[in-house]
This record gives sequence, C-alpha cells and structure tokens, in this order.
Amino acid sequence: MPSPAAIIRQLLHVILPVECETCSASLTDDPVPFFCRQCWSGIKPLAGPACPRCGRPFASAVTLAYSPGHLCRACRLRRPAYTSAWSLYPYEPPLQDAIRLFKYHGKVGLADALGDLMWAALRQPPDVDLVMPVPLHPSRLREREFNQSLLLADRLNRRLRLPLSHTNLVRLRRTEPQTELTRAERLKNLRKTFAVLRPSEVADKRVLLVDDVMTTGTTVNECAKALRKAGAADVYVGTLACTI
Ligand SMILES: [Zn+2]
Ligand SMILES: [Zn+2]
Repeated sequence: MPSPAAIIRQLLHVILPVECETCSASLTDDPVPFFCRQCWSGIKPLAGPACPRCGRPFASAVTLAYSPGHLCRACRLRRPAYTSAWSLYPYEPPLQDAIRLFKYHGKVGLADALGDLMWAALRQPPDVDLVMPVPLHPSRLREREFNQSLLLADRLNRRLRLPLSHTNLVRLRRTEPQTELTRAERLKNLRKTFAVLRPSEVADKRVLLVDDVMTTGTTVNECAKALRKAGAADVYVGTLACTI
C-alpha cells in the first residue's frame, strides 16, 4: 500500500515534470522544479581571475597576479559606461537549460531557485542605493507576460532590501536578438533604445542593474549610458550568467 505522500507525488507527476531537464533522471523529492538534485548542485560559480571592469574571466590564471587592475582588451579599447560588472555563473547546462525554461517557456517557478543561486554567489554585494532590471519592450513584455530580469532583481532584492525601480528605465524600441550581429550592428541596433523617464530618481544614485545573461555586454552598457546620462553616480551590473 503506497503512502499518502507517494500517492500525492504520483498525482503531481501528471501535472509536473517527471524527468530532469538536463540528465533525464526521474525526479522525486528534488527541491528545484525540473532538475534533479545532483545536476542542480553541479552549478558552480565562476571562479578565478576576471576583468575587474566587465567581469569576464581571463583565459590565463596569472593575468591579475602582478597587475590586479589589468583590464581585458575590450575594456581597454573602449571603457564601458558602467562602473563594473560581474557575472556569477558560466552560461552552460544545467543553468543554461534552467534559464531557457525560465525565460522562453514561462517556467517562472524557477525564479526562486535562480535568485537563490545569485545570492549564493554574490559574495560582496556592491554598496548601491537602488536596484533596476534591464527592461523589456512593452510588446515583448505582453508576449512573454513577465520580465525575467525583473523577477531576478526582485528575488535578489528580497535579501538586499533596497528600493526596486522597474518603471523608470525603459526600452523605447523593440530590437531583435543580437547574437548574429557584428559589434557595429549591435550598437546601431541598440542606439537610443533605452531612456530614463524620471532622471531625478537616479541622479547621484548608485544603481545595481540586473540582467539574466551577459553575452556581448552591449545591452547592459547601453542601459548604463542612459542611466549615466540621467545623472546616476555609478552603475554596477550583476548578471546571473555570462557566455564565455
Ligand atoms: Zn539531472
Ligand atoms: Zn573587461
């Protein structure tokens, strides 16, 4: 005779996923939706030397050994508009699977687990005055029904307990995915895309800008430009994952 808990679990399997998205193991009492305990615990933060400005990992472990302020080539060629950025995890499975489900398949039940990951890897939160997510264009928001960056910013901010602003920085134009574009095309694609509606709310403030994935960094940099133009004192960028 199965226990009541086992019966409930079997019933739930009808409506909940039964296999881990990454390794296809059967899920039982695993704490994170869609992933087995083993895969989820294999998600490890980025470690090792990284560019102090954009946060991208350096290929060589000794890059910062003798000059801790050494910037990567991209940042030396063109200083980002943000003060500094850091990404917490490499964008690879199972986290990549989780972000895909979360962002493109509406599995917002993963927001808590992803927020926990951000918090766990955030060893030293920067000293900031307010938290802002990278905005979606209203038409994209209507399609997706949620802004994944706002959900992450909200989960992170449940610990930081700062003002969370998600209506002031806006995306004026809808842009297509940037992955196939060259740097010049990406910049053109995003130019004048972001604006601050109420500059007085960010003037002289230190802002933490939150996004899910950093690929080229162009999006967060354009947001940072708009915030700096509105008078923000500093813009720090925190992303859950970065492509490496
Ligand atoms: Zn698994
Ligand atoms: Zn850099």
